[in-house]
Amino acid sequence: MKSNLSYYRCIECGKEFDPNELHYLCDECGRDYLPGMPLKGVLEAIFNYAEIGRRWKERPDPLLFSAVNPEFYPPLPVGNTPFFRTEIMGLESERMASPSYPIGIKFDGLNPSGSYKDRATQLVVADALQKGITEIVTASTGNAACSLACLGASARLKIVIFAPESAPPAKLIQIQVHNAELHKVQGSYDDAFKAALEYTKTHNCMCRNTGYHPLTIDGKKSAGLEIYIQNGFKVPDWIIIPVGDGVILTGIYKAFVDLQRAGIIQKLPQLLCVQAESSDAITSYWETGRYKDAENPITIADSIKVKTPALAHWSVKALKETRGKCIRVSDFEIQEAQLKLAAETGVFAEPSSVATLAGLQKALAKKWINSNEDIVLLITGHGLKDPGAVKI
Ligand SMILES: *Cc1c(COP(=O)(O)O)cnc(C)c1O
Ligand SMILES: [Zn+2]
Repeated sequence: MKSNLSYYRCIECGKEFDPNELHYLCDECGRDYLPGMPLKGVLEAIFNYAEIGRRWKERPDPLLFSAVNPEFYPPLPVGNTPFFRTEIMGLESERMASPSYPIGIKFDGLNPSGSYKDRATQLVVADALQKGITEIVTASTGNAACSLACLGASARLKIVIFAPESAPPAKLIQIQVHNAELHKVQGSYDDAFKAALEYTKTHNCMCRNTGYHPLTIDGKKSAGLEIYIQNGFKVPDWIIIPVGDGVILTGIYKAFVDLQRAGIIQKLPQLLCVQAESSDAITSYWETGRYKDAENPITIADSIKVKTPALAHWSVKALKETRGKCIRVSDFEIQEAQLKLAAETGVFAEPSSVATLAGLQKALAKKWINSNEDIVLLITGHGLKDPGAVKI
């Protein structure tokens, strides 16, 4: 299947770029980007929406929105994860819904490397294979690295990882078991991000840093397309999303924007951005209208522990356009929610992703989310990735 991707467009100045060439940031808006600030001049994948709309009517298929021809996907399949409805005790009474409408759960921890990151990696690996590039590098708090190591092995590419040495042990093992080259960075994820950019400048490779390679954003939209289809071709009222760099949030937003551009849907879902208390740069930005780094991110939710979110600007735009909201949760609330979700639904999720349930509970208590609304929890990572964080 040929891809319907037309071109990349800078979200700031609108300048267009040829996706057959390797592009990261806009060569004008991104010129004064320096590591340590949110990305500038991020590129958006723009498709032939008229063609997609026509073919969708014949047969709805998320692959119509794929930025790379699926022929180039690595052999190990990604996505098509389960979506189901279930009741969670305590939530139903708070919602006072009549008739009560069970919560939808999209369990993306069941991807091959155990996290949502596989969606972005699949497209980046496919892009490398199509362009004949044999080495990919990335910075990661853990899961992006596990994902790249895993799908890189599937596609037999050389993989180089920069990860903070504080990453959970199971994730560091996962990276090494797939034979990736692991550089442990003394310092934070933000330091690893810098190191990976430096490496990209001096090596003949592709960079998978999140938000930096445009297909990391577009890859993360596929779960949104699946949710729409698995929900019986209905747009949910709310999707609850755990947020670190803001790429999953932006990807889900892009899924529904793309469906709208293709004339398939009319309204967008509202997005609830859930962040750890100390890793709340996007939440503060949304509240105050001014960007500021999170001062000192310390949380057990390592996958959303980010000082400088790569996609801070686009995330806030997505929240405004979807009439979304932001909420902070504590480590204590995350650990409680982890046990509740596992005990009541059978879903064992890592702390970062179970933050969604903690955030939903708070949003219901605040009456931000109304009774009778159709709610989807996005569960992004498997609990076995970080068993040490469980408080039994
Ligand atoms: C990366 C990650 C997130 C956060 O995604 P961002 O795009 O950084 O906001 C949430 N949950 C899990 C399990 C992740 O791996
Ligand atoms: Zn630009």
